[in-house]
Amino acid sequence: MRTRRVVGGQGVGWRRCAREGTTGRGVSAVVGRGGVPRCVRQGRVAAASALGVEREATTEGASEEGRTATYDLVIVGAGPSGLAVAERVASSGRKVCVVDPKPTAVWPNNYGVWIDEFEALGLEDCLDKTWSEATVFLDSGAEDEKTLRRPYGRVDRKKLKTRLYERCLEHEVRFKEALAKEVKNFTPKGAGGVGGAMGWDNLPLSVSGYSVVTCSDGTELRGKLVLDATGHAKKFVQFRDDYDPGYQGAYGVLVEVDKHPFDLDKMLFMDWRDDHLRDLPELKARNDRTPTFLYAMPFSETEIFLEETSLVARPAVPFDDLKERMEARLKHLGINIKSVHEEEFCLIPMGSSLPYVPQRVLGIGGTAGMVHPSTGYMVSRMLGAAPGLADSIIDILGGGQPKIGSEVRMPAASSPRQAESSSSSSDAFVETGNEANDLSVEVWDAAWPEERLAQREFFNFGMEVLLSLDLANTREFFSAFFSLSDFHWQGFLSSRLSLPELIVFGLSLFSKSSWDMRFSLVAKGLPGLVGMLAGIARGTDKRYLKDN
Ligand SMILES: Cc1cc2nc3c(=O)[nH]c(=O)nc-3n(C[C@H](O)[C@H](O)[C@H](O)COP(=O)(O)OP(=O)(O)OC[C@H]3O[C@@H](n4cnc5c(N)ncnc54)[C@H](O)[C@@H]3O)c2cc1C
Repeated sequence: MRTRRVVGGQGVGWRRCAREGTTGRGVSAVVGRGGVPRCVRQGRVAAASALGVEREATTEGASEEGRTATYDLVIVGAGPSGLAVAERVASSGRKVCVVDPKPTAVWPNNYGVWIDEFEALGLEDCLDKTWSEATVFLDSGAEDEKTLRRPYGRVDRKKLKTRLYERCLEHEVRFKEALAKEVKNFTPKGAGGVGGAMGWDNLPLSVSGYSVVTCSDGTELRGKLVLDATGHAKKFVQFRDDYDPGYQGAYGVLVEVDKHPFDLDKMLFMDWRDDHLRDLPELKARNDRTPTFLYAMPFSETEIFLEETSLVARPAVPFDDLKERMEARLKHLGINIKSVHEEEFCLIPMGSSLPYVPQRVLGIGGTAGMVHPSTGYMVSRMLGAAPGLADSIIDILGGGQPKIGSEVRMPAASSPRQAESSSSSSDAFVETGNEANDLSVEVWDAAWPEERLAQREFFNFGMEVLLSLDLANTREFFSAFFSLSDFHWQGFLSSRLSLPELIVFGLSLFSKSSWDMRFSLVAKGLPGLVGMLAGIARGTDKRYLKDN
């Protein structure tokens, strides 16, 4: 197998794409002429090379004569989020374009998921390896090994992407092979009839304005709505200046080894043992303060994915540190690497503040703050959230009636800039900032209902508690956590618990903890608890609207 280096996380992935240019791996775009939409050169991308898809996608070429292609929805990013929303919105007959530098490349990340989550999504056939149980080692004693009777699987990235991509093709989603560089938003100067004046004759009339996405090759894509699905790159959605996340950091390798000690029927969810650091006092001290664990997916006696993981830290544990810890661990376990097939550098920002809600550009997944702040897991949650978000987009686009006025929920001090549009072909619009209009308000409301916001406050509190724990406390915490009922620990990890259920979860966790741990939780968790309760009490709008 070819060695592949995977870099993922905040901003890193897309920058790497930028260095590699805009052509997908082994994919060449053949540019043709004419067809739909008007005024834009149109080509086709043969997707066979990377995904094994026989059909061809219609692509957008460079714009001609300064004119732009027009869509109901432009999605930036062809990750799981972007494609899931694209196919659903397009299936309702809406015109959708997805921009990504490598729309047909297989996704780089190694996704692990709980099988029940993928079953609920009808995607259980998109797993290439499953384990009937998972193991947690809290420490080295026999009583420190816990077996989680919850099947786990590795996502077949190629199959899942092919599934979503083919559905996109079926519903005539267009693909633009490029980086999106800029989004400009335009709002009508007055209400009534301007949509027709813009020549959007095949789109529902609207006076809510539009946005223009400029691509790396100069192409401009005009959308009634723009969805930023760039993952942790968070390219266009705006977050508060005081955004201060915790980071999940992990260094992983898919390797061929002589042998390994792990049971092939179980995946290793967390190994907090630290015997390998006994003769390495400096490394041990580091690990005592900021603990890391081993996560492993054994595929055969000789093939295994190993990942040294920092659950959450602020600042992030550097990759060199993670690598050093993993090397010491593997040596102790007698694992001798013969060859490295893939190397994964994972940095996931977690928790902190949400993006401004609402804002003009829409978000999903990492860009909408949907990462589980206590675990970093997101792919199932986000694939589950995509239909709801897509349906709210379909709803607001679907009325066919012009929406009068633009409800901009911004304080007066942040009123829209009155800059004239340079790329608009009509005097009817002014360029505005990222302030929400009536369409985006509704979609953001659907993305973050009150219940989800309250749930997220709780998860953030959980993350702050985890950030404060050293190795000894972390072991105690997970000892109590995994002795909770399946309903509670599984529901917590899968973001399934309502706020009242989360409160019961928290109280149960507290009651199952030792007195030392309770004392520690109260001492370290009290400020976070007060913050969480205050956050829930304040309500949504006051917390997330842009400040003056
Ligand atoms: C290394 C790693 C491992 C992970 N493992 C797991 C796991 O095991 N389980 C789990 O649930 N979650 C995991 N995650 C979290 C993971 O990020 C999400 O589950 C999932 O990838 C989110 O999908 P997404 O579509 O929102 O974003 P992404 O998958 O990040 O997709 C974003 C897309 O946007 C494109 N893009 C970025 N910038 C631009 C631009 N300017 N213009 C055009 N396109 C752009 C990128 O090329 C990419 O295709 C992992 C994350 C990383 C980084």
